[in-house]
Amino acid sequence: INKKSFIELREKDQIDILSNLNEKKFRLSQINNWVFKNHVSNWREMKNFPLSLIEKLEKTNSLYPLKIIANSKADDSMTQKFIMQTMKGNKIESVLMPTKKRNTICISSQSGCALDCKFCATASLGFLQNLNEAEIISQIIYLQKISNKRISNVVFMGMGEPFLNYKNVIKAAKLLNDPNGINMGSKRITISTAGVISKIEEFTKSKEKFKLAISLNGTTNEQRTSIMPINIKNSLDELLNVSRKYTETLNRWLTFEYVLLKEINDSVEDAKRLLSMLAGMKKCKLNIIPYNETDGEFRRPDKDQIENFVIALRPAKFPITVRWSKGTDIDAGCGQLATRNQV
Ligand code: SAH
Repeated sequence: INKKSFIELREKDQIDILSNLNEKKFRLSQINNWVFKNHVSNWREMKNFPLSLIEKLEKTNSLYPLKIIANSKADDSMTQKFIMQTMKGNKIESVLMPTKKRNTICISSQSGCALDCKFCATASLGFLQNLNEAEIISQIIYLQKISNKRISNVVFMGMGEPFLNYKNVIKAAKLLNDPNGINMGSKRITISTAGVISKIEEFTKSKEKFKLAISLNGTTNEQRTSIMPINIKNSLDELLNVSRKYTETLNRWLTFEYVLLKEINDSVEDAKRLLSMLAGMKKCKLNIIPYNETDGEFRRPDKDQIENFVIALRPAKFPITVRWSKGTDIDAGCGQLATRNQV
């Protein structure tokens, strides 16, 4: 059996495999249809294929590059977390979060992460591998098959730093958006970065239509560097500059995420600095995420402190939301993905 799964091969190689099995090109469009429109989980489910062909295909390539190895449901019984394994044996996580209006999936772009943000559980794994386009897309195909509702939104907020795997992430987002692929509107696809400045510039230059989110998490260089080492080479001022350029050049909305950490970045002074930092942004939103506790030393601020922080932000001219993560009881909340609770 081939090392690569069928869907990660280039079209030319897919056609070669089929012609070696004496199959015509139309088989490929049938396969793509089964995969992207019907979300089958394996070759056997391609019901209009002769069994003899299915057996040959099974011997040649696996269909997908990932395997689901564990699945847990949150107490709200809506949020579900999946641990999947790549063909190299590394683990990633994806989270399905259905609500009345939406059915959002949070996907990984890497196994592990190199950024070492002090508050994030994924950091403890270190960097394991970049996911290719097929590995990214497979997370969505798998969960669409399991979910009884159409997946409406995709956020690149699982494991990894999407902008350190830029090419594959953009390829995957384009395939998601492709009418012949999954056909999801570009505004429903959000890519979140810890602030890789050169890639934010590239994203702006190539006028990508996907939504952009930036994890700000601090209001001074010193404070941000102490929790996000990426800030050493990608400083706050430069980050705000490229952010401004993004929303002005493309006239698009930009979301800033701000994880609220007790006694680190949760003071009223922080809130005031945030207001002035973001005042010049053409179109921005601020998303406050009260910290989801993991094994580390960081804590979520008390309710009162969160409230004070939000009250201090009231003069803002931009919209502010507070995100209470879903599925924290199964470690499926933001920053809790470390493939820990396996079965
Ligand atoms: N690396 C990208 C994608 C990960 S998104 C990025 O940093 O944007 C994950 C989001 O959750 C980021 O905004 C991150 O700052 C935040 N986060 C990380 N750990 C968290 C935790 N324990 N509780 C709440 N939010 C967390």
